Amino acid sequence: MGNVLFPLPIRPVVPVTGEEAGYPVGRVFCVGRNFAAHAAEMGNEVDREAPFYFTKSAANAVLTDAIVPYPPGTENFHYEMELAVAIGTPVFRAGREQAAASVFGYGCALDMTRRDLQIRERQKQRPWDLGKDLENGTVLAPLTRAVEWGGPAGQRIWLEVNGEIRQDATLAEMIWSVADIICHLSGFYHLRPGDLILTGTPAGVGAVKAGDKIRGGIDGLSIVGLELAAAE
Ligand code: MN
Repeated sequence: MGNVLFPLPIRPVVPVTGEEAGYPVGRVFCVGRNFAAHAAEMGNEVDREAPFYFTKSAANAVLTDAIVPYPPGTENFHYEMELAVAIGTPVFRAGREQAAASVFGYGCALDMTRRDLQIRERQKQRPWDLGKDLENGTVLAPLTRAVEWGGPAGQRIWLEVNGEIRQDATLAEMIWSVADIICHLSGFYHLRPGDLILTGTPAGVGAVKAGDKIRGGIDGLSIVGLELAAAE
């Protein structure tokens, strides 16, 4: 690329377990309400007609074990533990086989949320961006190649805060499977390498405060962690 007026925006490069080359993050898509028990705890019904999505900026993502300030503008900052799917080959209007073949790998991710802002905007029928697309608001653990992990098959997904378990479920509870999501989402986007899809969180979401340490895992994948420092 030619001269630029200021440094190119930072985009995270997620390590790949056991490999030298990392995975540069392009776009981040998130699935809403993909676990019935979480939809219920948020006072929502699951829409079984089709998945729905919101997006988060790649520039707002950080790698696992970051220490980040408690974010501005919220008094109800929540964790959401999720399975991230990393696209590895371009796919558009995918069939199920294409969907499966398009996955590069999987990782643990946190979809951090200013819940008070998300709910306030939702009640006013406005977009969720203030609640969801916050700085340092996506946390990404190293990816594991699909061939190494095998894909979701009922693995345990869990999250703890300061060593206390808060979310504990299995990937069998996902309403929309990874293939369902890729088939549907690729009807609206030309999915391509660099695209991450966060597939929704189980029940047990809750607030964290400055000083808290979050850890989350999915059987067979690298753990994701985040530490909250004091607000700026
Ligand atoms: Mn989420």
